[in-house]
Amino acid sequence: MLSDTHFYFNQAADVLGLSDIVRKILLTPQRTMTVELAVENCEGELKYYTGYRVQHNDARGPMKGGLRFHPSMDEDHASALAGLMTWKTAVVDIPFGGAKGGIDCNPREMSDKDLAQVTRLFVAEMKDFIGPTIDIPAPDMNTNARVMGWIMDEYSKFKGFSPAVVTGKPLELFGSEGREEATGRGVMISLREALTEQGKSFSDITVAIQGFGNVGSNAARLIADHGAKIVAVADHTGGVSNEDGLDIAALTAWVIETGGVKDFAGGSGFSGDSIITWKADVLIPAALQDVITEENAHEVKAGLVIEAANAPTTPAADAILLERGVIIIPDILANAGGVTVSYFEWTQNIQQFRWELDRINDELNKVMVKAYRGVSDVAAEFQVDLRTAAFILAIRRVGKAGLARTHLDPATFIG
Ligand code: GLU
Repeated sequence: MLSDTHFYFNQAADVLGLSDIVRKILLTPQRTMTVELAVENCEGELKYYTGYRVQHNDARGPMKGGLRFHPSMDEDHASALAGLMTWKTAVVDIPFGGAKGGIDCNPREMSDKDLAQVTRLFVAEMKDFIGPTIDIPAPDMNTNARVMGWIMDEYSKFKGFSPAVVTGKPLELFGSEGREEATGRGVMISLREALTEQGKSFSDITVAIQGFGNVGSNAARLIADHGAKIVAVADHTGGVSNEDGLDIAALTAWVIETGGVKDFAGGSGFSGDSIITWKADVLIPAALQDVITEENAHEVKAGLVIEAANAPTTPAADAILLERGVIIIPDILANAGGVTVSYFEWTQNIQQFRWELDRINDELNKVMVKAYRGVSDVAAEFQVDLRTAAFILAIRRVGKAGLARTHLDPATFIG
């Protein structure tokens, strides 16, 4: 995974003509941490987990990024995703760097008490390396507002009441209005901007979505509310399709009740694997990494791919799609709505002031539209695809900020 994100970085660095030393500085994480989490669970068994936090770059502000609780979590994943956070926060121009981390556990197999215990131990180990001006964790795969509440509570035991140490918290613990749906809303805004560029509107399109968790379900709802037809949705339980458009409110209720889209009565079932190659105008991968590969990229029917997940497209697949004329809105732009509202949450915590939902959504819209147009302008300037353009924009911002902190002249190193 790390080699893939490095590949995309280097593609942009080639356009900018960056030297090897500047590439090395920008690619290497500033700090990589692993911690041992040995605990006795509720059944009296001894369990061993490893916690990770990779702090990639803080040239533009405190490091920022989610915590993922998944058995596949390791240093390679944390490093790749931490780097993406640096480029993502730079693309949307919010005052943060990038980090990512997590624990190699499976929350589905753990009691809440065990999960809370492991989370608290992780925070106790990391407490001197995170903080409101150092590194601010947030939700990611298999972590949610509840887990963020535990993090705030544990950190505050050591450092005093500190809501700004973590974002994505429950509203009662100074979380932000609109944070939960923010990534999905950002996906909808990216899609809207892409359609506008093509002279199309939501009512002209059909959409297939992989993943119906927080990001996929909120994106589906907001996109359907704007008049698009969501013709197929797949998750880990299977897939469901309806040529006339799925009823997203009913599907959401079904998923809350049963745990997955499988057997939803409002459409026909399918195995889920074929979602990537579904016949739809737009494909939104909103689940795992590496799902669009050289094996299926030739069969993708959509003309537009919106990367709601992090790193869903391998470099080989990316090249195939671009060759076929498919437009890809890259993850570091398309899914940046989440970290943008995390920034608003952190701002509110520091100001000790609450913003209303309308303000959050309005500011999010402004940030996403500006970022989209910024990337689109760079793509036109350099005659490159949107991913390369997003990396160029981000590398310039991060590189110049890092150099501006020194006596060196940024113009000598960054084009
Ligand atoms: N985990 C999310 C992401 O990948 C959000 C990070 C944050 O809010 O800091 O962008």
